[in-house]
Amino acid sequence: MTTMSERPGPVVVVGASLAGLRAVEGVRRAGFKGELVLVGAEEHLPYNRPPLSKDLLTGMVEHNALGLCTEEHLADLGVTLRLGTPAMGLDLDAREVVLNGARLPFGSLLVTTGSRPAALPHGGAPQQGVHLLRTVDDALALRDDLLRARDVVVVGAGFVGAEVASSAAELGARVTVVEAAPAPLARALGPTIGEVCGRLHGLHGVTLRCGAGVAALEGTPAVTSVRLTDGTRLPADVVVVGVGVRPDTDWLEGSGLDLSDGVVCDETLNAGHPGIWAAGDVATWTNPLYGRRMRLQAWTAASEQALAAARNAVADTPKPCSVVPYFWSDQYGKRLAALGVPGEADEPHVVGDLEGLRFVSLHPDGDRIGMVFALDRPDLIMKFRRLVMTRAPFGEAVELAERLVAEPAHEEQGVRS
Ligand SMILES: Cc1cc2nc3c(=O)[nH]c(=O)nc-3n(C[C@H](O)[C@H](O)[C@H](O)COP(=O)(O)OP(=O)(O)OC[C@H]3O[C@@H](n4cnc5c(N)ncnc54)[C@H](O)[C@@H]3O)c2cc1C
Repeated sequence: MTTMSERPGPVVVVGASLAGLRAVEGVRRAGFKGELVLVGAEEHLPYNRPPLSKDLLTGMVEHNALGLCTEEHLADLGVTLRLGTPAMGLDLDAREVVLNGARLPFGSLLVTTGSRPAALPHGGAPQQGVHLLRTVDDALALRDDLLRARDVVVVGAGFVGAEVASSAAELGARVTVVEAAPAPLARALGPTIGEVCGRLHGLHGVTLRCGAGVAALEGTPAVTSVRLTDGTRLPADVVVVGVGVRPDTDWLEGSGLDLSDGVVCDETLNAGHPGIWAAGDVATWTNPLYGRRMRLQAWTAASEQALAAARNAVADTPKPCSVVPYFWSDQYGKRLAALGVPGEADEPHVVGDLEGLRFVSLHPDGDRIGMVFALDRPDLIMKFRRLVMTRAPFGEAVELAERLVAEPAHEEQGVRS
């Protein structure tokens, strides 16, 4: 096995966000003393994305409160920062990252370039008032428009779309959410729980239209309406497209890395070539906990993977990286949180008040617990961590849920944005 000591040279991390920051921290924590470079396309120091669809839009926090670290912190770690510098390519033979007009040699490379939002399939010219949301600059531009908006259409009722709808409603806009699937969040939570979560929209005056496709965004230069495939025309002065994300791997095209769904990695987050690692939203890896490939697009996974990949990049013996998938979302004042991965088509078992939108649902994977979802019970979700991690018998999870739900509510212990 090739080790760090046989492969001297700088450690280069490409992608200066959550995973990139944790990667440089992890490399130093693992004892690497050599040159460490962090390359980022954005001009900003690493910052936290979850508030972009929540508190930043509603004005509860300002953009300068989102920073994940200071410049001094990175200087203390001895990190050479190259912000505003998108990597353009990777030369695996020369072991260099290609920048605009320069090349950056590396001994080890950590790819942490995350994901970017997908556009609507019919594309077309960008129109004023039409927004994608990934960066703080996107969020600030959207906030400006939302403050003036009367009619907002959110395309896609996934977690980010639902959060934007919630924030826009809080700002006083008339909001419609258009979702192609018969129920929102069905892929993540199953149709039953997805439908129940979708009721949050209606309860807060937001119209949810499921099973609806977008035919066109109309108006020029500024959007004025969204035409649906059934001919309905929804007035809109702001449209937010939240139809999913794709891994940000354009810069790696033709490099020789397997990019079939993000950067494809083994259990140790190695990308199939000595000294090349990936972590965060951009990485598909074999999660040893499940023995199969997955790409998680969530905050805690990005941190955990980055620390593991960083350690492996500089250690003599790489270790497998197991992650218990965890995701949270804040909508209409309620916390939604999910831990684990559901089985194929099994109906969940609900403990608590389904109609009152305050419950825990247990999603089986065969006779084991696959995923636990909690709506408005952020104090409970992490109590299932051991059971989900050990894929305990389903009955054990049901027993725990019944016991916990019967107890008086605890202080919140979930991860907050
Ligand atoms: C609006 C929003 C709300 C969210 N809310 C939640 C939530 O409530 N809960 C949750 O668990 N997760 C949430 N997430 C997801 C979470 O923020 C991500 O999982 C996390 O940011 C992933 O971190 P990352 O470092 O892998 O990727 P990213 O944060 O996407 O960062 C990748 C970085 O790489 C840079 N980059 C890309 N290409 C290049 C290149 N060629 N050269 C140099 N740099 C490059 C990008 O500019 C970016 O700064 C949310 C995400 C968004 C966008």
